[in-house]
Amino acid sequence: MKITLLGTGDTPGTPTIGCDCSACMDARNGGRSYRSRFSVLVEGEGHVLIDTSPDMRTQLLNANVSTINGVIWTHPHYDHYAGFGDFYRIQKSVDVYGIKETLDYIVETFHFMSCRRHDVALYKPFSLIGLEFTLFRVTHLPFENAVGVKITDGDKTVVITGDTNKEIPEESLKMMEDADLLVADALAPTFKLKKHMNAAQALALGKKLRAKQIVLTHVGHFFGPHDGASKKWPLGYDGMVFEF
Ligand SMILES: [Zn+2]
Ligand SMILES: [Zn+2]
Ligand SMILES: [Zn+2]
Repeated sequence: MKITLLGTGDTPGTPTIGCDCSACMDARNGGRSYRSRFSVLVEGEGHVLIDTSPDMRTQLLNANVSTINGVIWTHPHYDHYAGFGDFYRIQKSVDVYGIKETLDYIVETFHFMSCRRHDVALYKPFSLIGLEFTLFRVTHLPFENAVGVKITDGDKTVVITGDTNKEIPEESLKMMEDADLLVADALAPTFKLKKHMNAAQALALGKKLRAKQIVLTHVGHFFGPHDGASKKWPLGYDGMVFEF
């Protein structure tokens, strides 16, 4: 399987409108601090998107992807679904996957789109593009059932935490162990956050779960310019690819 981090930014993205901090200036000058909003492309025998970023159109053009075989939504926050409308007049029927509450909200919001809805149960694997996907509960208020995604291809596993704070339920932690790659939410380096992990907490989680590799995403402008910050933290960047 191939994993591409299409968007590694937080809700406002970097550069943030009106901000002239060093990360936002690096982003404006074409540096790797440029972060579009969250989405991950998974490739097996086809393409699956984890979340549909408000920047989806540009992301799919940059990744040169023309057809999506499925969309999996982690939770109905604007920065994770708003780009779905970009499929309008591009792809007629899109297969969408998620837990009931998430699909109810997003499918209703995009009532003008024709999509094929697949309600998925937590902790029950399902197959798509020759890979196995499992949704697990994380902790991201106000949603009772925001999810992360585990992807399995033979003996290789990739775990994407989705948006979560560090209080992840025990049942989910068990499933997240020993991943070849952990893609973890880390909005800021070390500040206390309510809805998200910080980078220090994400690294501690990776260690506890014995992840072979960890990459941080949903990154805000708080880290400073990418090239310096990535010497200290394993920050992802838009367009970063992993192959297993
Ligand atoms: Zn900034
Ligand atoms: Zn969120
Ligand atoms: Zn988010």
